[in-house]
Amino acid sequence: MIVERVPLGVYAANCYIVMCEDTKEAMIVDLGGESEEIIKKSKELDFKINCIVLTHGHGDHIAGIPGLLSVIDCPVYIHEKDEEMLLSPKLNLTAVMSTDEISIKPDGLLKDGDILKVGNLEIKVIHTPGHTMGGISLKVGDYLITGDTLFKGSIGRTDLHGGSYDTIIDSVNSKLLTYSDDTIILPGHGPATKVGIEKKTNPFARK
Ligand SMILES: [Zn+2]
Ligand SMILES: [Zn+2]
Repeated sequence: MIVERVPLGVYAANCYIVMCEDTKEAMIVDLGGESEEIIKKSKELDFKINCIVLTHGHGDHIAGIPGLLSVIDCPVYIHEKDEEMLLSPKLNLTAVMSTDEISIKPDGLLKDGDILKVGNLEIKVIHTPGHTMGGISLKVGDYLITGDTLFKGSIGRTDLHGGSYDTIIDSVNSKLLTYSDDTIILPGHGPATKVGIEKKTNPFARK
């Protein structure tokens, strides 16, 4: 497995390319802008894009999708509770961002416990609401992709549509920080960290 981080868009949201080395198929996680960067990477690393999976429906994680879909055809997946956000420029905030207004109809809806297959990789969907109602994290191998639920030293904001402080605290502590200390956290913004580090240093971790 190869995992690449590509920060994209004006908010530098992390796009992750998760690739199966056996079959050269990849899942794209979030796509906040500059879809041509991902097309370029797919040629450099010689992979085929199997699907786009969204950790949640905010504009800074979805703005590059129309551009990518104009070049390649692949399904877009999001948690069922964030579908309305993906459809509505008002809820996904692209109505007030410098990008075009975006409304995307997902090809499939995810729920907690779903397993996505990309080549020989199995990716587990973990529902981690609180930043949005349909926020998800993804577990693949030793990696945990956490979207805007958990960052190095912080958590996502909870003042936007569907946000809840108590819910995000529960998602972080009851679902994410229960993985082994060596699990590598790949957040929606900023650098990678590890479960063990966040348990010790993140002010939102329950002691
Ligand atoms: Zn967000
Ligand atoms: Zn974000």
